[in-house]
Amino acid sequence: MRVVLLGPPGAGKGTQAQRVADALSVSRVSSGDLFREHRERGTELGRLVGTYMDRGALVPDEVTIDMVMDWIDDPDRRRGFVLDGFPRTLAQAKALDGRLGRQEPIDTVLYMDVSVEELTRRLTGRLLCRECQTPYHESFSPPSREGECDHCGGDLYRRTDDMPEAVGRRIEVYKDQTEPLVAYYRARGNLVEIDGQGSMEQVADALIHALRQGGAAPTRQS
Ligand code: ADP
Ligand code: ADP
Ligand code: ZN
Repeated sequence: MRVVLLGPPGAGKGTQAQRVADALSVSRVSSGDLFREHRERGTELGRLVGTYMDRGALVPDEVTIDMVMDWIDDPDRRRGFVLDGFPRTLAQAKALDGRLGRQEPIDTVLYMDVSVEELTRRLTGRLLCRECQTPYHESFSPPSREGECDHCGGDLYRRTDDMPEAVGRRIEVYKDQTEPLVAYYRARGNLVEIDGQGSMEQVADALIHALRQGGAAPTRQS
């Protein structure tokens, strides 16, 4: 089972990705998390992508495609995977289709839509764990202990690109470069639209339900 989570910044992809992956017993990856890990480690790739990310711009396609294809090439991914935040451009979607071929195509694209007002509220209050990248929200899903991750005890921080100026730019970039993927996948018949506006539990239920309807067989509901 190969699944893509598609949606604007702040739609809740990171919040839901692990649950969807657990339900399908597959691994998940966030291209944004991979880039942030490179930055934390101070790698060459991390230095290269930093300026794009802080501006709220997309990282160039070749760099992004190579990184995600490396992740997909791991033997563990033969069983399937959940992609969060990739593809984000038509070139990325075509590269992904080209790599997977006809035998192992993307089965379902879960498209989570949320209004711009709600996205802004979510992004400007988002906190992220520096160690495991679990997202929190200062009002909507605060950690049990302030500034500390419930899962790993890591430090919570606010992303530079979640500051109000960068948020507006990222939503524009999304509309311009990523939203065309909705039509692309709809035309291929594997797009399922989910109302991302509800509570985290409602959205999680809607996603799992959509996977069931789509003919997939989640192994458990968490
Ligand atoms: P969001 O919360 O907006 O979904 P991500 O953590 O997925 O943010 O991405 C953060 C930043 O990392 C993006 O603004 C962009 O600079 C870069 N990035 C992540 N995924 C991609 C991608 N598929 N293509 C290009 N850039 C990406
Ligand atoms: P994305 O990965 O799509 O950018 P996140 O999963 O990081 O989005 O969520 C963005 C912010 O919104 C986080 O602070 C998260 O805690 C919060 N959030 C996610 N889903 C919901 C929801 N259904 N209702 C309210 N807040 C949410
Ligand atoms: Zn953590």
